[in-house]
Amino acid sequence: MQPGLAAYPPRESWDNWTEYESRDWPNRKERSYALIPTSCFNCESACGLLAYVDLETGVIRKFEGNPLHPGSRGRNCAKGPATLNQIQDPDRILYPLKRVGARGAGKWERVSWDDVLDDLAGRIRKALVEDRKNEIMYHVGRAGEDGYTNRVLAAWGIDGHNSHTNICSAGARCGYAFWMGIDRPSPDYANAKVILLISAHLESGHYFNPHAQRIMEGKRGGAKVIVMDPRLSNTATHADYWWPTYPGSETAVLLAMANVLLREDLINRDFVRRWVNWEAFMKARHAGDSPTFENFLVRLKETYAQYTPEFAESESGVPAREIIEVAHLIANAGEAFSAHNWRAAAAGNLHGWMTARALFFLNVLTGSVATKGGTIPNTFNKFVPKAHTSPSPTDQWNELSWPKEFPLAFYEMSFLLPHFLKEGRGKLAVYFTRVYNPVWTNPDGFTWMEVLKDESLIECHAALTPVWSETAWFADYVLPVGLGSERHDLHSYETHAAKWIGFRQPVLRAFRERMGRPVNDTRDANPGEVWEENEFWIELSWRIDPDGALGIRKHFESPYEAGKKITVDDYYRWIFENSVPGLPEAAAREKLTPLEYMRRVGAFEIATNVYKTHETEVARPDGANVDPETRVVADESRTQIGVEIDGVIRQGFPTPSGKLELYSDTLDEWGWSEYAIPTYAASHVAQSQLDAANNEFCLIPTFRLPVLIHTRSANAKWLNEIAHSNPLWLNPDDSERLGVGTNDLVRVNTRIGYYVLRAWVTEGIRPGVVACSHHMGRWRTHDTEDNTRWSSAKVTIQQDGTQYLMRREQGVEPFESSDRDSQLVWWHDSGVHQNLTFPVQPDPISGAHAWHQRVRLERALDGDREGDISVDTAKSHEVYKEWMARTRPAPGPGGLRRPEWLPRPMKPTREAYRMGEP
Ligand code: SF4
Repeated sequence: MQPGLAAYPPRESWDNWTEYESRDWPNRKERSYALIPTSCFNCESACGLLAYVDLETGVIRKFEGNPLHPGSRGRNCAKGPATLNQIQDPDRILYPLKRVGARGAGKWERVSWDDVLDDLAGRIRKALVEDRKNEIMYHVGRAGEDGYTNRVLAAWGIDGHNSHTNICSAGARCGYAFWMGIDRPSPDYANAKVILLISAHLESGHYFNPHAQRIMEGKRGGAKVIVMDPRLSNTATHADYWWPTYPGSETAVLLAMANVLLREDLINRDFVRRWVNWEAFMKARHAGDSPTFENFLVRLKETYAQYTPEFAESESGVPAREIIEVAHLIANAGEAFSAHNWRAAAAGNLHGWMTARALFFLNVLTGSVATKGGTIPNTFNKFVPKAHTSPSPTDQWNELSWPKEFPLAFYEMSFLLPHFLKEGRGKLAVYFTRVYNPVWTNPDGFTWMEVLKDESLIECHAALTPVWSETAWFADYVLPVGLGSERHDLHSYETHAAKWIGFRQPVLRAFRERMGRPVNDTRDANPGEVWEENEFWIELSWRIDPDGALGIRKHFESPYEAGKKITVDDYYRWIFENSVPGLPEAAAREKLTPLEYMRRVGAFEIATNVYKTHETEVARPDGANVDPETRVVADESRTQIGVEIDGVIRQGFPTPSGKLELYSDTLDEWGWSEYAIPTYAASHVAQSQLDAANNEFCLIPTFRLPVLIHTRSANAKWLNEIAHSNPLWLNPDDSERLGVGTNDLVRVNTRIGYYVLRAWVTEGIRPGVVACSHHMGRWRTHDTEDNTRWSSAKVTIQQDGTQYLMRREQGVEPFESSDRDSQLVWWHDSGVHQNLTFPVQPDPISGAHAWHQRVRLERALDGDREGDISVDTAKSHEVYKEWMARTRPAPGPGGLRRPEWLPRPMKPTREAYRMGEP
């Protein structure tokens, strides 16, 4: 044992770390471990973990934090250590399964990976050679890795990437991207003087634990924290100002603060003059004025004068006095103003994307962009390495993901897929869902079930998943892929003002190799036949193109031996040796290869104190082309390399102007000139849209619980013991009016159906608004031995045409299993699956699903039971059509499907951007 107290085992002892056996206490029995770093996969943060592998038994005993990880710095939330539950879960899927009988009937047979690979490869190859490339789709929920799978799809030459982004972060991405061409913020919380959060960011936000610890650091350093959230979250309880804004009114409050900054001349003039495309604003809106910066400021003040604090108060309920007070705080913070909006308002409302645009407006006006304590564009803090080959962009454009109605969407219109398929817009030959559960996670799950059951629309559905899910139930193949400690991945996220790269690795494989026992592939070390996807994709790609004639195989050959199938070691070895600055040198100092270093340490910090990257001076290339109006500098191939500011070429931002775009010519040219500058527009759940006298409310269905994470936490027993219900938050004023008390059953009527749940009366929600967490309501229709029994209810589903009734027959109960804890389950609630009752509501610009719902509340009716869910999918299709009517379809200027500069996963060729003749 090490003498004295230490927060973490010192690295030099990671091969053989000894501590007392907790289960033998008070006997002081020693037990020795190998400590193997990996990364958590229970949210997007990818915090570092250290697996404690018992040297005697070779079993993982626990997961703790990796102190050498630059993002998480040894700390984790509850979900990190609960990885142990997931890998030991008696209900997990251990072998590849194939459907027997009808889809969704719940009958399976075990098959070999070989048979699966041959079948899938045959179908994919056939689609490729028959030029049906758009019939292959990979639909990912949590990617948890940077670039590996996208490279696979690019090698296949398809535009088949689909994601969950539009039910999550599309609104925020859109708001940020129209400013800076970069779709995420990276707040430098630790050094901030003022922190403004539009969400429960501290307890459950994006990059949750890495950000939370830095928000607390900022707070300890004296930063004021402002939280906008209609719900008194644990984040709001830590705020200096909790603003329970009416949902959708956040933009009004932000623009009112912009107005205060402008009218009181509290802005960073020099930053705005140098880095904002104010000339475009003058040209578009005030062409008659002399285009000087002073005239611009006059016009800008005039434009935003309408957003008075009093107006914002009337929309939001936030006192005008406080709005002015906080605007002054922000002005005083100057460049040290950190702000974040990711989901929350941006994901809840029609025009939600404007929340992020209005929020970043405050950063722009104060010059707190990429500064110490400010808000940094995420790509400045994110590192994406290159692999040994880069497949060419595809010449395909998949209209099932990128329909013409949403030319500016961020990104794929994933949640509309079942409606597109129903409308006959196409079919899928092979549909991969990967760590994705749209039946449960997306709105309108019954429509998903209808489509997933239809073999004429989806010919083959392969679910790559570590756990059972409502969607896997409708697959042809259920393919067990590794949990966080059973797979390789790379990731780099904008957790703070630095750049780092993390390495997830299969712990037991690394342990065996450390013990001198080589493995052929990860299945040798993982439980059952659980496989890591990287090896699966390599093998599948070889079988699709066995002789290399399709040009695919070459991307899966070893960079170290021509013609040989690449291994995961080859793949990461090449990246670590050639593509990560500073890593080979750091490894050499320890007499390790770069791959050995990453297997030992788990992460590498590439740069610290990364600020003001946009100011980087760029050399003028030969043959440079300088746009006379914007001063954007391009090289001979028309690639934008910078922008000239005060006579110096600087890196700038990846926007058409190279600057931050207050005025978006793109929005103007694509038919949305009314939203070309930050603007407030009413949400679909604005107070004016609701019939309060008829008990209509705005429902917030989006909030996270800190200990759960969508589908994957369902098989973590510790987490489900902590959180297993999602009552309806109801203010006492409303409770009295409705005659509903805590634990009374309420029927929540949406536009397509209803659900029934218990009420929780609390002053933690503002009047007129109700809330219900989305992390609950798992269900199963069959009682097989392996189906998320820690968390799911057994239900029946009755169907009458397009009308469905789901009814809970049995809650969570103790069950027999290899884990004795399963007999000790004491909770019965499983929550209610509210998303089933929501229609799709796509914002016409960002494409984001507007999650907030207009609902009518009533006491439960006779015969209603807790957990009842009723939906009419014919109605849901009608609502879909209503929202589609709001769109303004492509083509845009030049016959384009989408502006070429706008971010997009896996950009295809320039030709693919052009629409064919109508
Ligand atoms: S925040 Fe929690 S769940 Fe997310 S990666 Fe870190 S430890 Fe895992």
